[in-house]
Amino acid sequence: MGSAALASSASPTASPPLPARRVRVHKYGGTSVGDLDRIRKVAARIQRVVEAGERVAVTVSAMGRATDELIATARELHPRPSRRELDMLMATGEQVSIALLAMALQHLGVRARSLTGAQAGFLTDGTHGGARILRVDPAPLLRALEEVDVCVIAGFQGVDAAGQITTLGRGGSDTTAVAVAAALGVDTCEIFTDTDGVYTTDPHLIPSARRLEVVDYEEMLELAALGAQVLHPRSVWYGRRYGVTLHVRSSFDFRPGTLVRGLAREEAHMETDRPVTGVALDMEHARIDLLGVPDEPGVAARIFGALGDAGVSADMIIQGVRGAADSRQQMAFTVPRDRADEAMEAMTPLMDGLGGRAELDLGVAKLSIVGIAIGSAPGIAGRMFEAVAAAGANIEMIATSEVRVSVVIPAALAVEALRHVHAAFGLERDESA
Ligand code: ADP
Ligand code: ASP
Ligand code: MG
Repeated sequence: MGSAALASSASPTASPPLPARRVRVHKYGGTSVGDLDRIRKVAARIQRVVEAGERVAVTVSAMGRATDELIATARELHPRPSRRELDMLMATGEQVSIALLAMALQHLGVRARSLTGAQAGFLTDGTHGGARILRVDPAPLLRALEEVDVCVIAGFQGVDAAGQITTLGRGGSDTTAVAVAAALGVDTCEIFTDTDGVYTTDPHLIPSARRLEVVDYEEMLELAALGAQVLHPRSVWYGRRYGVTLHVRSSFDFRPGTLVRGLAREEAHMETDRPVTGVALDMEHARIDLLGVPDEPGVAARIFGALGDAGVSADMIIQGVRGAADSRQQMAFTVPRDRADEAMEAMTPLMDGLGGRAELDLGVAKLSIVGIAIGSAPGIAGRMFEAVAAAGANIEMIATSEVRVSVVIPAALAVEALRHVHAAFGLERDESA
């Protein structure tokens, strides 16, 4: 179903028919291909699928923390490397793992071929470090799947119209895999990772978190966007757009995991008889305070205009109390941590010119509750704030929507606050079950 949809909406090219044998779409993250032994295990798992008569389009991430290490290496040579060169460098991480997995498969006698993002037909826009997929040409993948049983696709990368290598943003291999499923018209994308599904919160931080059997696209989109690292937000968007179910499961065993798909409202309520489905913690944002902002029309537009010109988007924004004697006020907003320097470079001269100043705070965290019924259930925000207070954390900023409530709190108390909030909404595993 997805193939025709993707090709016709994103490009005028019609997709060729699928190969006669069924194709499965898998994705293995960094931990799952973290060393040679794990790569061999992934190869053995794929071999079983091929022996059962199916073909596999598998996306892999860079090994272990390879991407972090590449970024750290770049920063040793330049404090702020050019985004084009950084993409060139980061893309090598996935190029290593695709070649090694293809070799491991070939060693088992499986016909396999590795493909970079460009070779696999991924055309993106030119936003280095956060490119959007414009189109996936299914032809090279289909051709490869006629000739071999497994194509191993480099996650997280593509190429723009000018032939430049781009990357899709950290964690973007999930999106590559779901886009592969959509382009091939495969209805499920299996995301193999180091947990056995999507939990009510990060199970590595809160071991009593409960695994969810099924999660609605809307809720998963929110959880992912608000910091639940388990899925890249765009992968969920793709799944919803092209009707691909995401099956998040463990690469270490064969048990089924969590299905992320569209749920009818009644079904969603049956799944979660609680107003809150999950809690996300985001430690990847920084806070910028603007002090002594003139209380005049047009100032906010100048501030956020300058931020936009620097290519940075603000997340949460607050504006302080009016009425100070000199008619100046405070403003604060959050930005992605890895863009904080650029944001400060834009804000510092602007605030100097306005007679105020900008301050950077890296010690903040954003904690969010998500649930499709939050907007219609009274008292939810109050319960959350009470739990945050019980952890001793002061709330610095608040943002709400129909499906979530987010607070910015000191990073040092974030995990404690997460524990309290998670328990306050009854999300812990039922030990008696
Ligand atoms: P991969 O390298 O396989 O892409 P990631 O590290 O990107 O894996 O994502 C998996 C991790 O996401 C888990 O190890 C877990 O710590 C984290 N995580 C955060 N929130 C959740 C959640 N709600 N459910 C499951 N895992 C979560
Ligand atoms: N290797 C990339 C990263 O570490 C992409 C991914 O793992 O999904 O962000
Ligand atoms: Mg990931």
